[in-house]
Amino acid sequence: MRLTLYVATSNPGKLRDFAAMAEAWRRAVDFLPLPGLERIPPPPEDALTFAENARNKAIVYSGYAPSQIVLADDSGLEVDALKGEPGVRSARYAEDAGFAAAQSLSSDARNNLLLMERLRGFSAVDRTARYRCSLAAARDGVCIAIAEGTVEGVILDTPRGQGGFGYDPLFYLPEFGRTMAEIDLVEKSRISHRGNALRALLEILSASEAGKLS
Ligand code: IMP
Repeated sequence: MRLTLYVATSNPGKLRDFAAMAEAWRRAVDFLPLPGLERIPPPPEDALTFAENARNKAIVYSGYAPSQIVLADDSGLEVDALKGEPGVRSARYAEDAGFAAAQSLSSDARNNLLLMERLRGFSAVDRTARYRCSLAAARDGVCIAIAEGTVEGVILDTPRGQGGFGYDPLFYLPEFGRTMAEIDLVEKSRISHRGNALRALLEILSASEAGKLS
């Protein structure tokens, strides 16, 4: 059974990840952008967990595509030495902290500067971290599936690589000897938190949607 899923994100980094994942799943799933997303007021992301934020976003956005399955993700970085920060506030880490440096830089670059500053003096063994992604699917205002994916890494003290987005240049994957900004998108989709969440979500959805047809 072929699934059509509408992806509700305008984050260019996440869109590139989804495009690579769509390529990997092209035989079974059609991923389409949610039409008119740029005109929909973004729902608040003020919950305390990734899962709750993803669920709320999927429910709200599904109201704009009647009878269709709409996907929304909430994701971020958890650094053990910072007690799980920046966590659900990953996108707004520097802004929340009132970080005054480098105002002319992008928010991703400022978030990375703040993270480097907060971890200054920590040795490699104390720099463990993970990306976490919750991915929710909703139809007509009801959440029908939710799944989570993680990937473990270590935060470097200087950025490396030109690819990816967000914290990728600081997120080092010991098994690969590279940062997330140094691996290509196809490889990222195989190992990343978002790729892992999508695989888990598709398993749930293909079982529940197939069940509906039988
Ligand atoms: P959201 O839009 O609230 O889910 O924010 C996600 C934020 O977490 C992004 O803006 C990044 O700062 C960070 N993040 C999530 N996933 C990734 C990733 O795959 N690479 C790099 N940073 C990520």
